[in-house]
Amino acid sequence: MDAYQPLLWDHLEKLCAFGPRNPGSAGHAQARAYIREIAGRTADTWQEQEFEVETSDRETVTLYNIELNFKGTRDQPPILLGAHYDTRPYADEEIDSVLKSQPIIGANDGGSGTAVLLGLAQYLHDHPPARPVRIVFFDGEDYGVRFSSDYFLGSTHYADQLAGQDKTLWPHAVLVVDMVGDKDLRILKEVNSTKSAPGLVDTLFQKAGELGMDQFFPKYGYAVRDDHIPFAAIGIPSVLLIDMEYPHWHKLADTLDKCSAESLFAVFTVVAQSLPEIN
Ligand SMILES: [Zn+2]
Repeated sequence: MDAYQPLLWDHLEKLCAFGPRNPGSAGHAQARAYIREIAGRTADTWQEQEFEVETSDRETVTLYNIELNFKGTRDQPPILLGAHYDTRPYADEEIDSVLKSQPIIGANDGGSGTAVLLGLAQYLHDHPPARPVRIVFFDGEDYGVRFSSDYFLGSTHYADQLAGQDKTLWPHAVLVVDMVGDKDLRILKEVNSTKSAPGLVDTLFQKAGELGMDQFFPKYGYAVRDDHIPFAAIGIPSVLLIDMEYPHWHKLADTLDKCSAESLFAVFTVVAQSLPEIN
């Protein structure tokens, strides 16, 4: 497993070097190209899904989800692993009004989850899973102005499509990772996850305990709205791993130096080692 730790950090460094990765930016296009390149090298099949969303202020934005499929050795519905790869277009937690309007680098918020999933793509290529795994990089999670409905655009689009399909085609469960790179990582049991998929939450935290990953605290934390919510809402057991205690959240200071390879590796390892136990 240890061999994957430098790979995770390399992914995060590259993503941050693209600059802010909000929809429409040059960094977003570079991040998409990077994800597609890894997809082509690791997945059995992959596709990019382009779609348009009309925002609450009647602007049309073009977004792209990227899906990688690892077919597994068993004919079963897949586990869906998700993370958003877009970053926030404005640092609205800044006090200064000029700073507030600038896009963030999003090393932790947008970068860390993407880096962990890119590492898992390599891991699943090297270690084909029993149950199929689908990795989805969601766009437009962090697009909306505060109190608008323009959040979780990619995952909402994806879940809406599933809702129109036969349930036999649905994923078995959804596991989303977001903000998992903080140097001072503390992951608690997210409340919406424990409502939607208590068994899966227990599996993950039990595995973290067995592995001695002390970044996971098996106690109840906050309720967070993130990319798992649209899936939980249609009845798919859905879990979010997140550390919301991050002082640089939605600020320009959400940069690489606030993250660590150890934190990424802890989450990567717990997810990778839990997959065989998700039944
Ligand atoms: Zn965010």
